[in-house]
Amino acid sequence: METSKAIYLLQNKQIAIVGGGPGGLTLARLLQLKGANVKVYERDFSSEARVQGAIVDLHFDSGLKVMEAAGLMDAFKASYMQGADKYRMVDKDANIYLDEHSLEINDDFGNEHFRPEIDRGALRNVLAHSLLQDTIVWDSQLENMVQVNDTWQLRFKNGTTATADIVIGADGYRSKIRPYVTDIKALYSGATIIQGEIENPETACPEIYRLVNKGNLIAMGTGKTIAAQPRGDGGLTFYAASLYPENWVTTSGINFNTSNEVFAYLVDYYEDWNPIFFTLFKACTKFVPRPLNYFPLDQHWDAKANITLIGDAAHLMPPSGEGVNTAMLDALDLSECLTNGEFESLQAAIAAYEKRMLAKAAILGQEAIEGIKDFASPTEESIRKLLVQLNQTEPSKD
Ligand SMILES: Cc1cc2nc3c(=O)[nH]c(=O)nc-3n(C[C@H](O)[C@H](O)[C@H](O)COP(=O)(O)OP(=O)(O)OC[C@H]3O[C@@H](n4cnc5c(N)ncnc54)[C@H](O)[C@@H]3O)c2cc1C
Repeated sequence: METSKAIYLLQNKQIAIVGGGPGGLTLARLLQLKGANVKVYERDFSSEARVQGAIVDLHFDSGLKVMEAAGLMDAFKASYMQGADKYRMVDKDANIYLDEHSLEINDDFGNEHFRPEIDRGALRNVLAHSLLQDTIVWDSQLENMVQVNDTWQLRFKNGTTATADIVIGADGYRSKIRPYVTDIKALYSGATIIQGEIENPETACPEIYRLVNKGNLIAMGTGKTIAAQPRGDGGLTFYAASLYPENWVTTSGINFNTSNEVFAYLVDYYEDWNPIFFTLFKACTKFVPRPLNYFPLDQHWDAKANITLIGDAAHLMPPSGEGVNTAMLDALDLSECLTNGEFESLQAAIAAYEKRMLAKAAILGQEAIEGIKDFASPTEESIRKLLVQLNQTEPSKD
């Protein structure tokens, strides 16, 4: 560990990072490399808890750059899912439009177009194992905090408490820390995803399993999309996306805890699709509805001296493949501002970080809001655009 004079802003300060997702753990690693005192408070009961969601791809100029800065590229290379970055696009009849599995693509580390995929749980493990022992305090769901003079007293659901000089909210889209920084609320994007988890896809829905082919499957029909991805444990995650009114999850009358009800709804909604997609719905053991929200793109607040936000807690946006990457980049930017010796005070360091973070998030957020409509409610034109984005030419329907 480096103990440099550059960390004078953090000297003798206890830092509490609330949330052990990709943003929070990356920040803990980067700050520990500089010799800072860090604890991560995570609501999951233990390191064994499965992280929700499937794989994520890290990008050359964000996620991968940060892994390099964190000295974790070798660990990442040992854990990523080779070949899972390949895309297959099909229409509602399951005709294949684009199949990267059959293309000669010489992507590898060092190539800026290479976006290796990793299971969310594996990414958490890589980051968590890089931390000093007992850095992560599991089973610590923050309920609230109070400021006493210059310190924060954190209170957790399990009855424990902790004290910190600096608090960083890395606790995702329903952040408990965010209200201590700003009262700006999230807005609804117009799109909702029904996420489904399948434990044994090879036997439960073999045709779809073969279609997914251990990569990314995107099936698009007018006004609705299904995306499916492998998980690191052999399971499958899918997302059925479309545009729905705000609060549809509660007004729809569907009990999302009852698989049969969700199955019946999906079969009806996708009725003119190839029935192999119904096998995907049938095999699903757990459905989670996710209305996709975002924080306003022009949001800003006055920087505080001892609290800030990173990742979704700061700039929730609809999924666009950037969320994890941006959370990790926030961690790098914040760790640099806190330790590069350029700022006179913590407040100045936090202000510089937040200015950059909010400007960057506004650009990505705009793209994500535009992109989610094309994803959840595609038209022929938007499908063509997506194919171009995937470095392909016109779709051929034969
Ligand atoms: C359907 C869907 C698909 C997506 N796909 C991708 C993708 O392919 N690529 C990509 O880059 N991004 C993707 N994203 C976005 C991505 O998941 C997020 O942007 C990213 O996970 C944000 O990271 P984070 O560390 O800020 O927060 P999170 O990953 O949300 O982590 C927050 C952590 O805080 C913990 N926590 C929450 N509340 C508390 C509390 N009160 N006390 C203590 N701990 C708490 C949680 O348990 C969690 O571990 C997707 C999002 C969705 C909804």
